[in-house]
Amino acid sequence: MGNITTFLPDHFKNLIRPYYYWLKRHVRKSFKSSIVALPSHLNMAFTMKCQAACPHCYFLQENTATFKRPELLTQKFLTNMLGSPFCKNIRTMTCGGGEALLHPDILSLVKIPYQFGITQIQIVSNGITLQDKDIVQRIIANKSFNTLQVSLDAANADDFMLKKGITKCDFNSILKNIAAITASYEKGGHFSTGLSFVINARNIRDLSQMIKLAEELNVDYCHFATQQVTRDDNSSTIGQTVEKEQPEYDNVLRQTSYQVDINIQPPLQSNFLHYFCASLAHHLSLSPEGRLAPCCHIPWDKKYGMFDSCRENPINNPAAVNLRDMFIAAKKEGNPVLLPQECKKCPRRLKGYFHFSRHRRKWQFIPY
Ligand code: SF4
Ligand code: SF4
Repeated sequence: MGNITTFLPDHFKNLIRPYYYWLKRHVRKSFKSSIVALPSHLNMAFTMKCQAACPHCYFLQENTATFKRPELLTQKFLTNMLGSPFCKNIRTMTCGGGEALLHPDILSLVKIPYQFGITQIQIVSNGITLQDKDIVQRIIANKSFNTLQVSLDAANADDFMLKKGITKCDFNSILKNIAAITASYEKGGHFSTGLSFVINARNIRDLSQMIKLAEELNVDYCHFATQQVTRDDNSSTIGQTVEKEQPEYDNVLRQTSYQVDINIQPPLQSNFLHYFCASLAHHLSLSPEGRLAPCCHIPWDKKYGMFDSCRENPINNPAAVNLRDMFIAAKKEGNPVLLPQECKKCPRRLKGYFHFSRHRRKWQFIPY
């Protein structure tokens, strides 16, 4: 739930959730100004290393050298940054990279943000690291965060290697280890696991297999993200983005017998898109050394500024302000052509997603 509700206790959030979603659906989101309030969510890259080279990676589409730096997040930087007045409203955090689990101290570092009032911490892994028994045992012994989301992107070994841009891996051991982590905690507690899949016109036919795999591994949820292309001409190499209604989605949305919670982002077609992006509005995105990015889908760069040297709200860095100005102009004219190039086909502009609850056996459209 969004900005104001971030500060409410969980039981109260659950009580007001249906009314909140109704209200959210009827309030049209837009940028009132290119200057925004302090961030409520932190996207923290723990390392700039990544064993994968996913063709769909929006960071690599923008800069092929993104993961060629040896940066690692330090305890000193994390503590100083979270203690800064610019971070006092942050309540949720995503630990990514690169591949976050390649950071040797990640499981002790993720305990720190709770001391600064952050209540929900998600680690995102590309799955490749979960071939390592040692890290799997350490996660099982020490679940000091809330969610482990594995970006699996495929339901079999060949597709997995294709989606990750790698030539070998032990896919079965990745699956076995996800199942072992999932079996090590009680459902409904503070910890959960999920799988995510980037969907494009090539792999949409595999939706049902991916859901079946999530059910077999007994994870709590599976999330289907619509692929982003940052430049139109990237489509020929990474596959067409889903931009119109698809029978595969209809088939999945018709059924209600799944044993797993499911989130499906709709196609990038105009009725599902708006002139707003929550990441651009509320997220602070940092590289391990504190390089800023305008949002969580654009690679960090010194040219956007460094967190350490900020004298004002870092999410009002000139590049982010410029992007918001372009959103405001595009909305005023009702013309998506005026949007920044990288935002035109970005799923962060979607109004919401279809959600299936395994407990309520029901699909509903949840607004972002
Ligand atoms: S695993 Fe993630 S960060 Fe690494 S290349 Fe793939 S999408 Fe990019
Ligand atoms: S819509 Fe634009 S600003 Fe928002 S996450 Fe995507 S690329 Fe970034």
